[in-house]
Formats: sequence, C-alpha cells, structure tokens
Amino acid sequence: MTAPSLSTLAFASPSTLPEICDLLAERSARGGETVMLAGGTDWYVERHAQLPLAGAPLVIDLTRVAALRTIDLHGDRLVLGSATTYEDLRRSPVVSVRAPLLAEMAATVGAAQIQARGTLAGNLATGSPAADGVAALAALDAEIVLMSRAGEHRVPLNAFYTGYRRTVCRPDELIARIEVDLPGRPSHQAWRKVGTRSAQAISKVALAGIAVVADGRVARIGLGMASVAPTTSFLPSVRALALGRSPRELSGADLDEATGRDIAPIDDIRSTAAYRLHVARALVRNFFAALS
Ligand SMILES: Cc1cc2nc3c(=O)[nH]c(=O)nc-3n(C[C@H](O)[C@H](O)[C@H](O)COP(=O)(O)OP(=O)(O)OC[C@H]3O[C@@H](n4cnc5c(N)ncnc54)[C@H](O)[C@@H]3O)c2cc1C
Repeated sequence: MTAPSLSTLAFASPSTLPEICDLLAERSARGGETVMLAGGTDWYVERHAQLPLAGAPLVIDLTRVAALRTIDLHGDRLVLGSATTYEDLRRSPVVSVRAPLLAEMAATVGAAQIQARGTLAGNLATGSPAADGVAALAALDAEIVLMSRAGEHRVPLNAFYTGYRRTVCRPDELIARIEVDLPGRPSHQAWRKVGTRSAQAISKVALAGIAVVADGRVARIGLGMASVAPTTSFLPSVRALALGRSPRELSGADLDEATGRDIAPIDDIRSTAAYRLHVARALVRNFFAALS
C-alpha cells in the first residue's frame, strides 16, 4: 500500500494567521491530522519514505501568509516570521550585520533550491538532531512563539523538544515567530559545519556559537551543536565553564571534558561516534581560541 496521492488530499490555502488558527482548531477538535506546508523540503521527502498514513491529512499551505515571512529588529530584539527561508536570512542586511551566524548557517543548508524553499519553522518542527537552523537558534537562546485560536505563548527553545523529533507544539498550534535577544555590544559569532561536501550534505557535526567578552571575561555565551545527541545540544557544561572566565583561562582539557559531558554521539550512516566526539571537541576549542 502506498500513501495517498497528493491530489486526493484536502488542501487549504489561507492568507491570514486567524484563518490558519481556525483550520487547526476545527481539524484537531475532530482528531484529524494536519500538515503545514511551508517549503515542503522535509515533508515531501518524509512522505515518500513513510508507511501508509493512518488517515489522509489536511494540507495547509502557508506560503500565502505574508505575516509569517518577516524579519524585524525592535531595539536588540530580532523577530523572525517562522516561514523565513534560508535565502531570506542570507539576503537580509539586518541579519548579516547583527546575527551573522544565522546568515552563515543559511548559506550552508542544502543548495540554492533548498535555501529558497526551506524555512525555519519546518526545520524546528521536523526536529532532526542534524537541523542546522535549530543549532544556530540554540546558540542565540531563541524563543519560539506558538499561536492557536486561544492566543500566543512563548517557549524557550531549550524547552521546545521533549525527545527525538518530538516537540511541545500542540496539534491546534503553529509556530508563528522566532524571537532572539541580540547582544547590544560587539560579539564574536561563528558557524562551523563539518560534512562530506559543501552542498546538500547533512552535517556530521555542526557548531553555532556567540560570545560577548567584556573586561576580559566572557559576559555572554551561547552554543548550539547539531548531530551529537537525540536533540540539538545547548552544551550547558561548556557554557557554565566559560561564563565569567577569561577565555585564556579555559584549558583545552577542561573544554574537552565539558564537551564530552554534554553530547551523546552515535554511529550512523554519516559518521561514527568517535569521529563526532573528536570533531565536536575541536570545534569547541577553536571557538574559544578565537576569543583570546
Ligand atoms: C536535498 C536536501 C538538503 C537538505 N539540507 C539540509 C541541511 O543542510 N541542513 C538542514 O538543517 N536541513 C536540510 N534539509 C532539510 C530541510 O530542507 C529543512 O529542515 C527545512 O528547514 C524544512 O523546512 P520546510 O519549510 O521545507 O518544511 P516543510 O517540509 O514544509 O515542513 C516540515 C514539517 O514542519 C511542519 N511545519 C511547517 N511549518 C510549520 C509551522 N509554522 N508551525 C508548525 N509546524 C510547521 C510541517 O507540518 C511538517 O511536518 C535538506 C532537505 C533536502 C531535501
């Protein structure tokens, strides 16, 4: 048995957020499945791989909702509509100047076609541990704004995942925005992705980092690492080790030990646990070496 053909699925193409919320509320009240079609770059692939669906989903096309595709800066608060694409991030002057790690990350996702269609919401909702966008947003300690007919609520990204590819997003909710507090002073931001080639490759390990050094000490630190645990790692032990210390005081051995504590890499088709641990430690060491 194969999955039903796309042309047989119920399809809605709303143009406002309240319309989406109504569709989600009505559908979830009846226990029906919904798919939100943003760029389709994850869903179409998974649809081909999956077993027959229990029931045919309602497909809600998000591409006509202009309010989901905005990039705004309010003071130091960066507000990203959830359907912001990688290409949008790469082309945004605000992002390039204030959050360059997002622009650098976006430039390494897939190739031009994927960057043009793939969105942050799709990356977040799919919740792959290899998700590049999630790692970058983890370093920025992003807040996810979820919306339903009942209103909005905010979830810190480090509370968004409840397990491998599982999130707190309810069936009647959508991811509406992603918000980030950017540093008001100069910061060091970095994105490093290790994969087999520069385009189309899913990472073996990737690290996003942001640090503010004030009076010789680490005053703000944010880290996010992909492909080293069932969900994106925020590297809490490494953050705790670095905060308030001079980057010069951070020994390679201490950083290695903290990195090892924060990740649980596995062997899979893309790499081995041992190689991932080695690369993760090197990426963390290099990030802090660039601060001193
Ligand atoms: C060839 C190829 C290369 C790729 N390379 C990379 C890579 O280098 N790095 C990487 O991280 N990923 C990569 N991906 C994966 C994919 O492109 C990204 O995860 C992308 O961000 C998915 O976004 P989308 O808009 O296409 O999601 P979609 O496929 O449209 O949606 C995916 C899921 O998210 C849900 N969803 C969408 N929008 C919302 C919303 N607003 N609220 C709640 N749920 C929502 C959908 O219901 C669906 O379940 C690649 C994919 C392909 C096919």
